[in-house]
Amino acid sequence: MGLQTAEALILDVRDLHDRDRIVTFLTREHGKKSGVAKGARVKHSRFGGQLQPLAKVQVTWYEREGRDLVRISSVELVSTAHLLQSDLEGLLLGSYLADHLLEFAQEEEASDHLYRLLDSTLQALAAGVERDLATRYFETWVLRIAGVFPAPHVCPSCGRSFPPEGAVLPRSGETMLCLDCGGPSGFAVAPETLELLCRMGRESLPVMAGRPPAPGVLRQVEAVCTQVRRAFLQRELRSYDVIHTTLARL
Ligand SMILES: [Zn+2]
Repeated sequence: MGLQTAEALILDVRDLHDRDRIVTFLTREHGKKSGVAKGARVKHSRFGGQLQPLAKVQVTWYEREGRDLVRISSVELVSTAHLLQSDLEGLLLGSYLADHLLEFAQEEEASDHLYRLLDSTLQALAAGVERDLATRYFETWVLRIAGVFPAPHVCPSCGRSFPPEGAVLPRSGETMLCLDCGGPSGFAVAPETLELLCRMGRESLPVMAGRPPAPGVLRQVEAVCTQVRRAFLQRELRSYDVIHTTLARL
């Protein structure tokens, strides 16, 4: 309570009335926070151009007991995610990354893992790591941190390692099974996909980018993540649907 300051990543900025903005940001220590930036819409505001989605900032805010919204007193820009603001695909990707944390990060709960994941993904993207790989890595790890990503090496039903033929993700299921336990229906997960999922568990994004997987494998990772995320959330992230409907129109 009282005055707090922390390094943060900005997840969302929206207008509030004619003069103000509501900013949602992620900190390592305090999790996700939403606050009012008074006068942020006014010309020559002290918040200036600093309230940019996915920018890293030093933010100071005032918190009062029993209030959901904090009051933001200052924001200093540390670095911007300008590479994600220069084209439509980048903008869509940026909102997809932020959307994950708006959904999965909690308020008043230390979020060191999620913070580091988003921070390192933005750095890798800025360093030129390919967007498709970075996105698949990010969505896999969000589910891992949430504790819902299925084990990519062993069947939880019979305890045996997955055979060289791969695994199966039953329809609407959240767990990958061996072919004996999973049966013939469901989504067949190729052995290359399982191998990539294992690599994602132990390698950093820049290391993975040095030995990139085939695009077909990334499509399978996306499909597995999509199904696990939907089963867990009981719905889809809005930004994911927006990406697909928008890019389909181009
Ligand atoms: Zn099994």
